[in-house]
Amino acid sequence: MIELKNISKTFSSKKNKEVVALQDVTLHVKKGEIFGVIGYSGAGKSTLVRCVNLLEKPTSGEVFVNGEHLNEMSTDQLRQARQNIGMIFQGFNLLKTATVYDNIAIPLKLTGLAASEINERVEKYLSIVGLADKKNVFPNQLSGGQKQRVAIARALSHEPDVLLSDEATSALDPETTDSILELLLKINKEFGITILLITHEMHVIQKICDRVAVMENGEVIEQGNVIDIYSAPQQQTTQRFVSSLFPSEFPSEIFDDLQKQGPIISLTFVGTSADQPALSVISKKFDVHTNILSGNIVQLKDKPFGKLIAHIQGPKDETDKALAYLVEQGVQVSEVSNNG
Ligand code: ADP
Repeated sequence: MIELKNISKTFSSKKNKEVVALQDVTLHVKKGEIFGVIGYSGAGKSTLVRCVNLLEKPTSGEVFVNGEHLNEMSTDQLRQARQNIGMIFQGFNLLKTATVYDNIAIPLKLTGLAASEINERVEKYLSIVGLADKKNVFPNQLSGGQKQRVAIARALSHEPDVLLSDEATSALDPETTDSILELLLKINKEFGITILLITHEMHVIQKICDRVAVMENGEVIEQGNVIDIYSAPQQQTTQRFVSSLFPSEFPSEIFDDLQKQGPIISLTFVGTSADQPALSVISKKFDVHTNILSGNIVQLKDKPFGKLIAHIQGPKDETDKALAYLVEQGVQVSEVSNNG
């Protein structure tokens, strides 16, 4: 659905200094998937997503959306093609002086749609994003999450095949972020819209993406299924993103407490996400501490995560009992290694 072939982008600043924002990026986003691009600030994510609808013209490389070669289009053809590519932004980009209704209706008018069709679409998409009762209010009367819902309704009203999301949840609190991500998931499922989103937050990727590309210094350094990237991140930057989701430090007070009882045994546990409840039980029942290193304890779409890696730490007697308990509970421990 989206094909970026060997995209490079160099900006030249006033002082004639060149900034290489993208270097030979190749990505292939399949129809109907949610593809995430993650990277730290300055990695080139925004430039990349803006190259998809040619808001930014690549210095070299080719952009295809739904089989159409965007670089070779005339201005008119490109305007037409952009109808098929919705976009939402961190700052929502709503017209402050227009009502919610007009924020959606005005861009539709520019496409030459009949008034009755415009009205139908505004009503339909406002209702889908849960804001049917807000059509006559102005953006400053809405919360951040509601503003983003208006922006999503505006994007959907053009009935696109593709939705681009440029840090759409970065300005929102965690709860609102989750509700917007759930809305994106619903849009993807119900309308089959392909979503390409960029973010610097791993939990956004974890919550809704099928595949992910990790960017650094204008390059894609790693990409693959989210599950695979979680289980075995290859690059240091990817490892940092994955570990940002899990408590990385073994709490020192627990460690001190355990150490009084003798040497600490540390076991690495490799199971599946279904084993997570049993891990919680052993940390309460025995004198051990469990620390999830990677994996995921929530569902990714409808699939449970394949692999869960945890440390079980405590005095030998207790770790032995904890392991015996896990086995008794039918937990399939596929690998146990004692690194202590
Ligand atoms: P990200 O979205 O990952 O934070 P960006 O794509 O915004 O990264 O930026 C990548 C690099 O390109 C940065 O070094 C940034 O300063 C530079 N850059 C982006 N847009 C422009 C521009 N219009 N002019 C000059 N440099 C730019």
